[in-house]
Amino acid sequence: MVRTPIYFDNNATTRTDPRVVEAMLPYFSEFFGNAASTTHAFGRKAHQAVEKARTTFAKGIGAASPAEIVFTSGATESDNLAIKGVAYACREKGDHLITCLTEHKAVLDTCKYLEHEGFSVTFLKPQPDGLIDLAELEQAITDRTILVSIMHANNEIGVLQDVAAIGKLCRDKGILFHTDAAQSLGKVPFDVQAMNVDLASFTAHKIYGPKNAGALYVRKSDPAVPLALQMHGGGHEGGMRSGTLNVTGIVGLAKALELCLQEIDWERERLEAMCQRLLAGFKAALPGLCLNGHPTRRAPGNLSLCFPGIDAGSLMLGLHDVAVSAGSACNTGSAAPSYVLKAIGLSDALARSTLRFGLGRFNTEAEVEYVIARFAEFMRRARRKG
Ligand SMILES: *Cc1c(COP(=O)(O)O)cnc(C)c1O
Repeated sequence: MVRTPIYFDNNATTRTDPRVVEAMLPYFSEFFGNAASTTHAFGRKAHQAVEKARTTFAKGIGAASPAEIVFTSGATESDNLAIKGVAYACREKGDHLITCLTEHKAVLDTCKYLEHEGFSVTFLKPQPDGLIDLAELEQAITDRTILVSIMHANNEIGVLQDVAAIGKLCRDKGILFHTDAAQSLGKVPFDVQAMNVDLASFTAHKIYGPKNAGALYVRKSDPAVPLALQMHGGGHEGGMRSGTLNVTGIVGLAKALELCLQEIDWERERLEAMCQRLLAGFKAALPGLCLNGHPTRRAPGNLSLCFPGIDAGSLMLGLHDVAVSAGSACNTGSAAPSYVLKAIGLSDALARSTLRFGLGRFNTEAEVEYVIARFAEFMRRARRKG
């Protein structure tokens, strides 16, 4: 027996792990101090918790120093701070940025804003498998280029860009490299030093932590990344991000990452096995089904599936006790087909036939079997009607 509704939308957000909640709880009550008020024990307790979390988080992403972590409200804020921060700090040096058409809106819209501010931006078109062509990236670099921003795992189609190769290319060319790692953190290996990443965005709520807590990694040496601050005020976070620290959120973010890293290998295997089973089960009922994006270079748990001839909206109604998403949660409210799917070459019709299944830590094999059975039933009904 499975409990419905079933949650298969873990790319939109995840349930906070009870172990994370437990770690956060004392900082709402007993240790409620302001981390900046270190003249007394209340503040010092909060400050210590924040600094412990900073060390844990820095180690978890391979940073050279905890001082390279700026805590933020999430990946949207981190993307804004990274891209605008570098653009305005390096304006003397150049005015050109490079990104990709399949980035999250937090990156795309920030880049479009900078275009209005007089910067020029190259939006690379990915190949049909969702990966960008490194030769094309290299060709796009000019002597005015200051920043390349390419995400690690895509939130809609799950494709993992070769961040290490992009980092190496940018490092060789002396150009700063930012990556939005919101969807890959804790799921696949990620190391800012090994991958030559200069700035990286993260959010807790995609890794079984709380909403509205995140971080930006900003390299402090070889090279030190200049950043124009975007939030003026009390000078928290080394002046990079003013505002009273979200102590509970920060504690939750670090705990969430710690748990993911403890379980990273077997959880990846488990999610990949469940995804393969789901795909095989669906294919048995609809042989024309196809997976969007690269078949193997993808974040575990994500299946963006195209059901040719079937409207994603009616399929979602048919699977009404299964929470999935058409396109991305960040773009709901728009009836337009997903820009990510269009960028990898899907027609409007195929994009409108796509659903994203996002499996995560709390999903089970029994749920996968239930969803396969529900889909088979949907197909039987559709054939009878058709
Ligand atoms: C979820 C997500 C974001 C936005 O993160 P928030 O913390 O919700 O602001 C940005 N980029 C990617 C790739 C995401 O998946």
